[in-house]
Amino acid sequence: MNKPILPGTLVNGQPATLGVMGGGQLGRMFVHAAQRMGYFTVVLDPDPASPAGLVSHHHIQTPYLDEQGLAQLMQRSAAITTEFENVPAPALVTLGAHRPVAPGADAVAVAQDRAAEKAHFRACGVPVAPYVVIETPEQLAALIEGPGAVPEVSRVGADLFPGILKTARLGYDGKGQIRIQNRADLAAAWDGLKNVPCVLEKMLPLAAECSVIVARGADGAVVHFPVQRNVHRDGILALTEVFEGNLPLPIAKRSIDAAISIANGLDYVGVLCVEFFVLADGSLVVNEMAPRPHNSGHYTMEACDQSQFDLQVRTLAGLPLTPPRQHSPAILLNLLGELWFDAAGGAVTPPWAELLALPGTHLHLYGKLDARRGRKMGHLTMTGADIAAVRATAARAAALLGIAPF
Ligand code: ADP
Ligand code: MG
Repeated sequence: MNKPILPGTLVNGQPATLGVMGGGQLGRMFVHAAQRMGYFTVVLDPDPASPAGLVSHHHIQTPYLDEQGLAQLMQRSAAITTEFENVPAPALVTLGAHRPVAPGADAVAVAQDRAAEKAHFRACGVPVAPYVVIETPEQLAALIEGPGAVPEVSRVGADLFPGILKTARLGYDGKGQIRIQNRADLAAAWDGLKNVPCVLEKMLPLAAECSVIVARGADGAVVHFPVQRNVHRDGILALTEVFEGNLPLPIAKRSIDAAISIANGLDYVGVLCVEFFVLADGSLVVNEMAPRPHNSGHYTMEACDQSQFDLQVRTLAGLPLTPPRQHSPAILLNLLGELWFDAAGGAVTPPWAELLALPGTHLHLYGKLDARRGRKMGHLTMTGADIAAVRATAARAAALLGIAPF
């Protein structure tokens, strides 16, 4: 095991510096957490205006696979993490040969591919939605013909329709997915996704969605946050509620146990988020995982004694992990780009002053200058003494923003 990288020390003659691949909002919040603890930071992201690049000590503005960029990142960093799951796995392999990289390239590669991810979940004994992998026109044709023609479908033993066709790679915020009613729609949907490898998944009757964030150290120590109850709209996270009793206790316990076994099964180092579906009959199905902090965990910055970014810093630097404790019930409300436009499409500024007049309201903006529909611009976290008070505040915030009630 590597020695811990202590903040405020010199490593190879320069201040202890933590590196991050990717300069989005997750990288920005990681940088803030690392800097607060006394680390220097370096971000690699080609965008000169990237949210994390704007606040980091150093910002390397090259493509992710650029040899010189990667060499500079290694030269500056004592250890390196990632903030988006689509960072090219070969870049992580290069970095990992010379520096501690967490999470490792192998774990990230599994999370980058829905087929590999689902195979891993099954290997860990955690149920997934019935699905098949579609990679070739022959597989598609067999699937259109009928379930009997496809061994994989026979294995699943279920009708997959209505279903969702999802690209195996590069999907996020509901992008790269098409909902289909029956097998007749399948060919057109696969064409619509440019015939890339996909998984076809049965549409399940969701009673609720939830996620669990765990942090695992190189020594195998694991800590976790409480289960988060998530509400998605149009495939994008809209709201997260976290308080004792947000989900029935057995479901909370099963999802935490599942997330831990998924992390252990990958010999994972870093922060991992696992998303679940809760079905009407009370059963739990794992949906996907993110090898990094997660949007549903942003409330931890104000509602817990350690945030998911603090734990990302600790796992990366090889520092001890202590179980985080939530001290306030919390609701997180995402701020998407459409809030920056009025009904006629004119530019507006959301009513920050009115929002900040609400008790226990914390505003986070990610420093993105151009607002677009569906783009994550920031979030609000509301905390309070009890969930009834927090819900009342969140309802007022949603009304001020013109967001439909939850
Ligand atoms: P993304 O990578 O875009 O987050 P997800 O697979 O998590 O993709 O899908 C986004 C959302 O779509 C989910 O949070 C859920 O609300 C809905 N969804 C996805 N798969 C299913 C399914 N099999 N059955 C019902 N709803 C689903
Ligand atoms: Mg998702």
